[in-house]
Amino acid sequence: MQATADYHTHSVYSHGKGSIEENVQAAFARGLTTIGITDHGPGHFFIGVGGVSAFRRMQEEIVRLRVKYPLIEILLGVEANIVDVDGTIDVPLEIMDELDFLLVGYHKLVRPRSLAALLLGVQNFLAGWLHLRPLRLRRQNTAAICAAVRRYPIKAITHPGLQIDIDTVALAHVCVEQGTLMEINSSYGKELDGYVKTALPTGAMFVVNSDAHTPARVGDFSAAYELIERLDVPVERVINISTT
Ligand SMILES: [Zn+2]
Ligand SMILES: [Zn+2]
Repeated sequence: MQATADYHTHSVYSHGKGSIEENVQAAFARGLTTIGITDHGPGHFFIGVGGVSAFRRMQEEIVRLRVKYPLIEILLGVEANIVDVDGTIDVPLEIMDELDFLLVGYHKLVRPRSLAALLLGVQNFLAGWLHLRPLRLRRQNTAAICAAVRRYPIKAITHPGLQIDIDTVALAHVCVEQGTLMEINSSYGKELDGYVKTALPTGAMFVVNSDAHTPARVGDFSAAYELIERLDVPVERVINISTT
């Protein structure tokens, strides 16, 4: 197995340790043909990209790096957050169309856009802390993430079900309907077995990503490969793995 692209890496623009250039160099050294820079959306408390001006700086940096590193495709994306119960995400509209692609991750600790979103966030926080999985909460979470998939051109949902309890089958069906990929995240190999097992029979398509927060981990898909072998995921279902 050899993945050709890593569409999910963090840089110093959120809470990654490396610069965009260091991530690009690491991806090239690993033999990838494409790297995506996807820092956390601005709605993430403490670690999100600092709004429109920061996105502009990232864009300028990437334009410069494309000239300097012509042998690798460098894409600017974002790992957006869901900030309202209707699936609203935290990417400024003036930036959304200029990004090369959009990832969405359902995270805790994001700035809510409404009272309902605040209440949902608090319940998710408490449920995680107390290890509870109330069905009503799962239904609300699923409704929010499915609404986001229907509303935006999302390339992939990152680490589904990792921080927030959702109905994987319902999400997978909406992803199939909308052509959205589901991520096999190499930073959380074993924790994601259940979700991948559940999503497989729906026909959902997958993408492997590193979710690297340091340049050394860019393009490190070892945990994802182990998961793919353990669960017998057909490699034709993973869009960025080449078998030749
Ligand atoms: Zn994430
Ligand atoms: Zn991430």
